[in-house]
Amino acid sequence: MKKSESKKSLPDARGYFGEYGGMFVPETLISALQELERGYNRIAGTPSFQKELRYYLEHYAGRPTPLYFASRMTADLHGARVYLKREDLAHTGAHKINNTVAQVLLAKKLRKKRIIAETGAGQHGVATATAAALFGLECEVYMGDLDIKRQALNVDRMRLLGAKVIPVYSGSMTLKDAMNEAIRDWVTNVETTHYVIGSVAGPHPYPRMVRDFQSVIGKEAKGQIVKLEGRLPDVLIACVGGGSNSIGLFYPFIGYKDIELVGVEAGGLGIETGRHGASLTAGEKGVLHGSMTKILMDRDGQIINPHSVSAGLDYPGVGPELSYLKDAGRLKVYPVKDDEALSATVYLSRKEGIIPALESAHAIAFAMRYVPKLPKRSLVVINVSGRGDKDMDIIREHIKLGG
Ligand SMILES: *Cc1c(COP(=O)(O)O)cnc(C)c1O
Repeated sequence: MKKSESKKSLPDARGYFGEYGGMFVPETLISALQELERGYNRIAGTPSFQKELRYYLEHYAGRPTPLYFASRMTADLHGARVYLKREDLAHTGAHKINNTVAQVLLAKKLRKKRIIAETGAGQHGVATATAAALFGLECEVYMGDLDIKRQALNVDRMRLLGAKVIPVYSGSMTLKDAMNEAIRDWVTNVETTHYVIGSVAGPHPYPRMVRDFQSVIGKEAKGQIVKLEGRLPDVLIACVGGGSNSIGLFYPFIGYKDIELVGVEAGGLGIETGRHGASLTAGEKGVLHGSMTKILMDRDGQIINPHSVSAGLDYPGVGPELSYLKDAGRLKVYPVKDDEALSATVYLSRKEGIIPALESAHAIAFAMRYVPKLPKRSLVVINVSGRGDKDMDIIREHIKLGG
């Protein structure tokens, strides 16, 4: 049996994971973040909050999601036994609902009346609007005007769910600008408003809070694989955008030093082209959205516009805990290019009848390279972070589907 080493838990009291994390925000937000941290510490660990959250995750969000033995993929790759953690089957089609239901429930306990969020492709906006509707709170979502034009379906979904979508016209009119506007709103309305950040990025306490809420993925997977195989897995693979689905799967396994953790980033058109979203592979230490972490920047320290065929991996930063785990050598990170992710989308669709999100397809693509090199008795768990229906337009643009 694998052994777990206990270590002091991170982040520290100041919100740091080693040299990463912290609260790099305007003075006016420090007290709001501290109030949120106090509220989180007071409420989230109590049996009554945990019980209520479990109720909504099970009866509303569709948890536990299955851990599915991918028998055709396993036979085809001639290596390790492959298991898929099916976050694509969660309500709204991805893991994001785990975090938004939990944060909006917390906001309700903190007596907030209004929910705000930022969104890029619209997936987090939809998951937040869903949770706000569930708990009957007002919801406003900031979204870059360019993204609004690119993601019309998700804009309509948010509006149908009763949320107001606020266009952002500053900067590149994409995710990072929407996040800046959401922070500005929060500064002025912090008394009444909770800001739901969609990943393990942003200032303390968000990286810790979102990690804890997403850890339900890893906790379930751990119980499921032990039940199915009688032991823990050898390798865990997940895609990394901001880092929430990956840390959610990895977190309960971090103490088991002989379990390999693999994060797969957006290689875009190739690292050498500069057109990618691989902050852990090619980023440098800097501050983005209130947190010290690895970010993509040019020689003048300006944020580089990232690129990925998958909107969810198209982010110039990454959660501080992932930067820490990478530097500590605990997390291995590999980039996967756009075209490999597209091929993996076709592969999983035809091999297992599962159309993965383009983000998740990055993890599948890496597994297709790696699983054949592993012994037959080893066990691999891949997080299928979401379903691919949302990506059909992009898939159609790139792949000839045939008759
Ligand atoms: C948003 C999203 C991601 C990327 O975000 P993380 O915080 O890195 O998990 C990955 N997969 C899907 C399906 C998403 O919607």
